[in-house]
Amino acid sequence: MSDYIKGNKYPNYKPSTTYSSGRVCIDKNCTTVISKYNKFKYCNNHRPKTFPRIKGRNAPDNLQDPIDY
Ligand SMILES: [Zn+2]
Repeated sequence: MSDYIKGNKYPNYKPSTTYSSGRVCIDKNCTTVISKYNKFKYCNNHRPKTFPRIKGRNAPDNLQDPIDY
């Protein structure tokens, strides 16, 4: 009995994901070079901000008045 299980090898040849280096923020007046790991077209200063969902809502004005006993 010389059978043994060979593990499959998954060569780790893939480099980490990078984007073209030497890119510059596409904002007109900005010359900030963007990191090649940054997937955005803007630098950190000009990247469009994503607004989180607005919390809360307008205070309802039709709430019941507290009941006096
Ligand atoms: Zn910029």
